Amino acid sequence: MIPYGRQDITQADIDAVVEVLKSDFLTQGPKVPLFEQTVSAKVGARYALAVNSATSALHIACLALELGEGDWLWTTPITFVASANCGLYCGAQVDFVDIDPRTYNLCPKALEAQLMAAEREDKLPKVLVVVHLCGQPCDMQAIHTLSQRYGFKIIEDASHAIGGKYQGEYIGNGRYSDVTVFSFHPVKIITTAEGGMALTNDGQLAEKMNLYRSHGVTRDQRLMTHESDGPWYYQQVELGYNYRMTELQAALGISQMERLDVFVARRHKLAKRYDEMLENMPVITPWQHPDSYSGLHLYVIRLKLENISKSHRQVFESLRELGIGVNLHYIPVHTQPYYQNMGFRQGDYPEAERYYSEAISLPMYQGLTDQQQAEVVRVLESVLK
Ligand SMILES: *Cc1c(COP(=O)(O)O)cnc(C)c1O
Repeated sequence: MIPYGRQDITQADIDAVVEVLKSDFLTQGPKVPLFEQTVSAKVGARYALAVNSATSALHIACLALELGEGDWLWTTPITFVASANCGLYCGAQVDFVDIDPRTYNLCPKALEAQLMAAEREDKLPKVLVVVHLCGQPCDMQAIHTLSQRYGFKIIEDASHAIGGKYQGEYIGNGRYSDVTVFSFHPVKIITTAEGGMALTNDGQLAEKMNLYRSHGVTRDQRLMTHESDGPWYYQQVELGYNYRMTELQAALGISQMERLDVFVARRHKLAKRYDEMLENMPVITPWQHPDSYSGLHLYVIRLKLENISKSHRQVFESLRELGIGVNLHYIPVHTQPYYQNMGFRQGDYPEAERYYSEAISLPMYQGLTDQQQAEVVRVLESVLK
């Protein structure tokens, strides 16, 4: 089976992890801060907090932005459930904004209409989580302008997008947002096995996220309520969690970061080949906004079902049966039973639901060879005939 995504691990990656195993520190040593510096320097953010997953990063970002009971978090329905769940973790309510039919990202026009309605009902969101689906950045400038007018904070869920650029600058520099989150799960662009990171240019947000990722405990005298009792002393000043990243993960991340641009360039080469090879097939290939240089975590096609004699499901199943490990990103979050129990209904977000009825993620990863890719295309062509 050719999978839809897969990590790329070299001997240098293995050596980096083994070196940590033989060292004095498996957690809370020098590698985590070095990984943070490596990523923040690369993307141009002032502060970076490494954590054990992007889900944890989303949670501490929401906490630092003081999202809580009585507040609203808005996001896109076409995302992994974690982009919405982080709001529920904080006791906030969640709502969705439909997608743009060309980019599949949260649609700024739909957002504006929904904000106008929410203002009348006094239900404006406190936090908006935008998701750079497949690695393509959202229309951040338009969304940022709306955030100034309506007073909400922006978290970029850039789980798909490290190494990508918006208007020529690396995603993660925070020009148009408060916090950016990366995921280092093995299917993503670089990996630390499990892992994530929250980046910001705001020192106070960074300080709060630092507390939330480690039990709300500090050894920093500035954050304590009174003079330290002695060298052993620490204080718990918030209710935090254990969301820390290990030294082994950080060492792997540092080693992977050296190949980030190579990884993204290879994904672009693969995408260009797919674009060309699929040109005459009854599918819609990904459209790229001129402002964006996608991280290309995913390559999603949409089936032109009116020109195909099989159903979406039949095409998907045939591909799997023939050894192509396709996937579907994503099932609209509002159609999940947990969200249906909160009152969301089928039909609430028509563009998202239409996308779901046509989308298929083709294999896309560093190690996918030209021959394997040609095999994917050959099988797809035979299935669509
Ligand atoms: C993978 C992913 C997450 C969660 O990442 P973890 O590191 O597995 O917690 C969140 N949002 C999106 C869009 C993702 O793709």
